[in-house]
Parts: sequence; C-alpha cells; structure tokens
Amino acid sequence: MSADDRYSRQRLLPEIGDAGQRRLSKSRAVVVGCGALGTVQASLLVRAGVGETVLIDRDYVETSNLQRQCLFDERDAEAGVPKAVAAARSLGRANSEVTVTAIVKDLDPTNAETLLRSASVILDGTDNYEARYLINDVAVKRSIPWIYGAAVGTQGSVMPVVPGRTACLACIFPVAPGTSQPTCDTAGVLNAATSMIASLQVAEALRILAGRLESLKARLVSYDLWTGERSSLRTALPNSACAACRRREFRHLDDSQARSARLCGRDAVQVSGRGRGVDLAALARTLSTLGPVRSTEHALRFSCPPHQLTVFPDGRAIVKGTQDRGLARSLYARYVGD
Ligand SMILES: [Zn+2]
Repeated sequence: MSADDRYSRQRLLPEIGDAGQRRLSKSRAVVVGCGALGTVQASLLVRAGVGETVLIDRDYVETSNLQRQCLFDERDAEAGVPKAVAAARSLGRANSEVTVTAIVKDLDPTNAETLLRSASVILDGTDNYEARYLINDVAVKRSIPWIYGAAVGTQGSVMPVVPGRTACLACIFPVAPGTSQPTCDTAGVLNAATSMIASLQVAEALRILAGRLESLKARLVSYDLWTGERSSLRTALPNSACAACRRREFRHLDDSQARSARLCGRDAVQVSGRGRGVDLAALARTLSTLGPVRSTEHALRFSCPPHQLTVFPDGRAIVKGTQDRGLARSLYARYVGD
C-alpha cells in the first residue's frame, strides 16, 4: 500500500484494514432519499470506496436545499436537476473507481422490495415514517441491515437495525410518532445536525460492511447539537409483540393498505392519516407562518401553490393540484407530519 493510495488513510485504521476495505469494495449501499442526510451519506460512502452506491430520490434540487444538501450547487437548483442525478454527477467526480447509480423514483409499496432487495445495507435519508416503515418491512423480511436517521431543528437520532440481532423500527415505534410533529419545513433544521446524524449513520454502515458487527451497539441515540444533550435507549431486545420482526406481518409493503389514493375525475389525491387525529388549531398556527391558511373546526385549508391541502380532524387530507400519490404523500409529510 503506497501512501498516496486512495484509501490508505482508511486502510491504516485497525477497524477497517485491508480486509475491511476489500469488503467495502464488494458492497452495495442503497441511500433512500437524497436530501440533507442522503447527500452526506452518499458522499462518505462513495469516498470510502463502497463498490456501488444507489441513490433513490424523486425530488428536484431547489434553492432552499443548498443550506444543507452538500452535493448540490446553484446551477442544479436553477436547472431543477433531479437530486439523485445531480448527486451522482457530483460523486462521479469524487471517485470514478466505484459505481454510483441514480434512481429518480419515489419508494413505494409497489417498488420497495425490487429497489432494496440486493442492498448490503440501506441508509435512511428520508424525512417521513411512511418510507421508514417500508424500508423496515423490506429489511426485516429479507434480513438486510439498515440505519435509521432523523433530524429536525437542532436535534437528531440514529439507530442501526440489524434483523436477528437488534430491535427493528416497529419494535421501538409500533406506530409513527404523532402527526403535528415538527418537520424541517415547518420548524427548520440546523445543517450541522443533519451532517452529524448522517455521519453517525455512515459510521454504523461502514462497521456493518467491513464485517465488524461484534462492535455494534444496539441503541437509539439522540443528540441536540445546540444544548449538547444526549440520550440513549437500548435496542438490543426485539419487542415480543412486534408485527414486523416477530409476527412477520409486512403491512407497509401491502399496497392495498397504501395510505394514498387518486380521487377519480379530480386533480387531487387523498392521503389518510395514521388513525390518529390532528389538532387543527395547532396546525393552523404552524402553517400560517408559511402561507395562507383558512381553518374551521371541520377542516383546515392551506395553500402552497400550485397545491392546496385540505386537512380533516381525523388526519385525512386531500391534496389538490396533483394526481401523483408520491408527491401528495411528500406534501403531507412536509406540512402535516406523519
Ligand atoms: Zn421488530
């Protein structure tokens, strides 16, 4: 190994070494969501020499992404380049010796198993629990490790899920943490928080890919970068009542139970809630800082041109201005929570 070898500083690490580096070069990492978390994850994985990194994202680069989504620039935002394509282009210049594959798609119950099944590890770069439960279902069903990550405001959390060794997402959160939770679009996000969470996710992924599972710590760790507070929850033991990893019911993969449906004859999609109500008054206060809101006790109407969301107290919403279910779910996750 010469000192100018691309991976020399990484192979020097006893935690990786030559054997670990060879394993990385034969691995395939799938990054779901190419935003604040996904761009940092992809950058580190590609530079570390992971043989193939697959980027899945349905969105286009916008100017408001540039504060934290580190593989994009102003030209990408101006041209509205798909995020997966812009990220792959940038990464091709960082490391031409590995493969980077861009997939411009929304992960949904009809394609999740096909897109994820050949992964050595899956990294969560999403911003919503619907996608995370879908990843969890495929990962548990096919015994693929995945790394949960989430960041909003100045805080974030990370949890490695290794089926058969740790609890899964559904063990820890049998249902998604409530609607009306803050999202990056309503509460903002510190770029240092997303970068740190993504880095912690990649450290877990590299540990798994390098075959160093013996050092895995089964924990859900949360940090607040502003206050310096840290908390940790042990996740070594699966929940004996878990629908996914104990009963092997993969209901998020079951398309018939998908949460969205096109409304026939209308330029609109209905997104159902998760069986919990929404506090319309609280949601109206949050959304009123972002755009026009009209609200009664029966419904709340929020305009985000060219779309309009009508949210009902049972958590259901009608997203007008599109027939695209993925876009409707993404607008719901962004403004209502999930
Ligand atoms: Zn479980």
